[in-house]
Amino acid sequence: MPRPITATISVDALTHNLEVVRKHVHQAAASAAKTQGRPLAPPSIWAVIKANAYGHGIEQAVRGFWQAQGLALLDLNEAVRCREAGWGGPIMLLEGFFEPADLEVLDRYHLTTAVHHPDQLAILAGNRGSRRLDIFMKLNTGMNRLGFAPDAYRAAYQQALRLRDDGVLNSVGKMTHFANADGPQGVADQMEVFDRITDGLPGPVSVSNSAATLRYPDISLARDDHAAWVRPGCCLYGISPFHDANAASFGLRPAMTLASRLISVQEVKAGAAVGYGSAFIADAPMRVGVVACGYADGYPRHAGTGTPVTVAGVRTRLLGRVSMDMLAVDLTPIPAAGVGAPVVLWGEGGPTVDEVAQAAETIGYELVCALAPRVPVQGRDI
Ligand SMILES: *Cc1c(COP(=O)(O)O)cnc(C)c1O
Repeated sequence: MPRPITATISVDALTHNLEVVRKHVHQAAASAAKTQGRPLAPPSIWAVIKANAYGHGIEQAVRGFWQAQGLALLDLNEAVRCREAGWGGPIMLLEGFFEPADLEVLDRYHLTTAVHHPDQLAILAGNRGSRRLDIFMKLNTGMNRLGFAPDAYRAAYQQALRLRDDGVLNSVGKMTHFANADGPQGVADQMEVFDRITDGLPGPVSVSNSAATLRYPDISLARDDHAAWVRPGCCLYGISPFHDANAASFGLRPAMTLASRLISVQEVKAGAAVGYGSAFIADAPMRVGVVACGYADGYPRHAGTGTPVTVAGVRTRLLGRVSMDMLAVDLTPIPAAGVGAPVVLWGEGGPTVDEVAQAAETIGYELVCALAPRVPVQGRDI
């Protein structure tokens, strides 16, 4: 028997979460249209599937997000895997391309690309591929990660439009990325820069990640007849981008369930210690379960005593330090649980990945992305 740890990906949950987002932006469009007394198109959705679909697997994501208008990622190999999985729609490269030779891949697999740096524009100008590429010009509105500076953007955009007119490019759009859509600062400052700098420039628009899509859907409604795209990532996997609102409050379902089993049980006396560093000391006799899951599986080592975990359907707590291959849990609330009892580390039937992340002082994104390659991943349709 293989070691009993598995990550199960629910393709149905991915599809469900995409539908939640679709309804959310459609409702925003419908109510804005009512207020403004004119029809307003809802944005199209690029389902963000970078980092192996946040650890969920590219192939599962392609199936789960089949109804999305596009897929967005940043690894060229993953883009090729989407095409091999049968995806014929748009694929957006969020970091653009990395060297001139990449253009051949963009050309062959019909990939849309972000252009965030003058060097990329210069490379595109020399493109002799068979296909006219679709690009989104990225504006740095204040995050200072990727994008043209505001005072350089309009000239660069005009240059891209000339490449379009010269037959090198097909379409040119505008994009930016928010630093604080999940927090109190919000998106207003960056949107002010975006609106001012892109004013009057033609082309489709894309600004919103999960947090902005969920909290500020109105900013992604099509304006001036230009198509709009949102770029939700984490929420499509049932992970909340917010500290102050969980995924279930939006009707989102966890798509990844990390499960294992008890491989040992210890009867521990009062005063005895559990695990490395003796970080947990029992204050009374108790039963301790040992789970086949550790930090080498991607479980966060910083999760300490008290981190929620479910054993045989009952919520309990982690004890002491997480080891490389094992962790200990309190079996006090589950006296009948013995070796072989099912354990859910996060996901369906267990704590949310966001709860575990919070206990480890990180975010749910990091945990699902860090699922270790040694954990077998199974897709299932329900
Ligand atoms: C990762 C990413 C997203 C999605 O972010 P979430 O917070 O997971 O929704 C959107 N846009 C860009 C440019 C990204 O890099």
